[in-house]
Amino acid sequence: MQITKGFKYRIYPNKEQQALINHQCFIYNQAYNICLNLWLKEVESNKDLPKEQKKYLRAVDYDRLVKEALKNRELPFKSVVTQQARINFLRSIKRALSKEMVAERKRALDSATTPKQKAKALKLGIPNFKNSKLAKTSFNWNNQGFQILESNNAKFKTFKLMSMPLKMKYHRSLPQGYKVNQITISTSNDKYYASFSITYKQEIKQVDLAHLDSAKCIGIDLNINDIALSDGELIKTLSKKVNAKKYNDKFKRLMRKNSRRVRIKLESKNKNQKLSNNFRKTQKQLNQIYERSSNIKKDSYHKITTRLIKEFDLVAVEALKNKNMTKRAKLKNVKQKSGLNRSILNTSFYQFSQMLAYKALHNGKFFVKVNPQYTSKTCSVCGKINENLSLSDRVFECDCGNIIHRDINASINILERGLKSFGLGISLLDTKQKAFRVS
Ligand SMILES: [Zn+2]
Repeated sequence: MQITKGFKYRIYPNKEQQALINHQCFIYNQAYNICLNLWLKEVESNKDLPKEQKKYLRAVDYDRLVKEALKNRELPFKSVVTQQARINFLRSIKRALSKEMVAERKRALDSATTPKQKAKALKLGIPNFKNSKLAKTSFNWNNQGFQILESNNAKFKTFKLMSMPLKMKYHRSLPQGYKVNQITISTSNDKYYASFSITYKQEIKQVDLAHLDSAKCIGIDLNINDIALSDGELIKTLSKKVNAKKYNDKFKRLMRKNSRRVRIKLESKNKNQKLSNNFRKTQKQLNQIYERSSNIKKDSYHKITTRLIKEFDLVAVEALKNKNMTKRAKLKNVKQKSGLNRSILNTSFYQFSQMLAYKALHNGKFFVKVNPQYTSKTCSVCGKINENLSLSDRVFECDCGNIIHRDINASINILERGLKSFGLGISLLDTKQKAFRVS
C-alpha cells in the first residue's frame, strides 16, 4: 500500500541562515498576497460581465505577475517559493469555490441577521491575506534541489537547501524507498523546522472483516476531559503529571500584564505611541507556554491513540467537527474554561480522531465515524430514548433497569452504530422498531 505521511524535524540555522529563511517566509506570504489581490481584482472586473466576456488569469499569468511585482519592489526571491505560494493559493481558491463551500456560504448568509454577520458569511472559506509578523510563518518548497546528508554526529543530518547546509536533528528515520512530495520550512517562536511530505510503500496486513473478534471492537466517546470506551474504561485526556494550574496561572499573569499595556496605549493621547519591547517579550513568553501546552496534549493523544489502535481492530467515534464541539460544550453545560486552561484541558476532537484515522489506516485496522444523534440519550441495553436526560446528569438510568455511566453508555451506542455500518452486530434501529411493534 502507498502511504503519504509527514515527517517533521527541528533544524538549527545559524544567524545568517535564519535571515535567509525568514526572508523566504516573507516572500512566500507576499507572493500569496499578490495572488489574492489579483484574484480579488479579477472577481471585481468580471462581476457585471456576461459569461462569455469574463476573463480569468491562468497559472502562468499569476507566476509572471507575481515575479514582476517582486522585482519592482527589488525583493530577491526564489521562483520555487513564489510558485509554491501560487499553487497553494489556487488550491485554496478551488476549495473556496467548490460546491460544498458555496452551499455553506449560502447557508451562513441565509441565517445571518446583522450586517457584520453577513459580511462574515460572504467571506466564509475565502483565503485571507498572510501576515509575516506572526509568531508562526512558513514557506513551501517542491521536491527538488535539496539533499539530506550524513553528518559527523549520528543524531544529526545535514539538510541542504538553497545551498545552505542546515543542521537537522534526525530523531526518527525516514522509511526505506521514500519519495518526497513537498517540503515545508516553518518557524514557530524562533524555532525552525523542516517538514517532509513523503510517499512510501508499506506492506499492511488488513484485518479480515469476516473474522472480526467482537472483543477487539471499541466505541469511543470523546469528552471535554476524558475519553469513554465501550468496554467500560475511562481514560483521562491528559496524564496526571501535567500541572495545568501552574501553566494557567503563569499564562493569566502574563495576559494581564499585556492587556494593561494595550489599555495604556489605547488611552494614550499620543496616537503614535507604540507597544513597548516588553510587550513583545511577554507576547513571546505567552506563545511559548501555549506551544508547550499544545505539545503536551499532542504527546498524550499520540500515546492514547497508538494504544487503542494496537489493542483494537475496529474503532468507532462520533462524526463531530470542531465547531460542533464548541456548541456541544455549551450544550453540555460545561463551564467553559478560559485561556490556556481551555486549550490544555479540553480535548481537541478533530486532532484526536485524525490521529486514530491515519493510525488505523496504516495498521490495517477499521476506523468509522458514526452519526452522533442521540448517542447519549439512547439506552445501550433496550434502545429506548431518554429525552429527560439532563446535560449535567453523569449517570444514565433507564426503566429497563440499565444504570450506567453516561459516557460509557454513549460509547456502547457508538460501537453498535459502527458495527452496523459494516453490516455487523444488531442494529439499534431494528431493536427500537421491534420494541415499538410490540407495544
Ligand atoms: Zn433501557
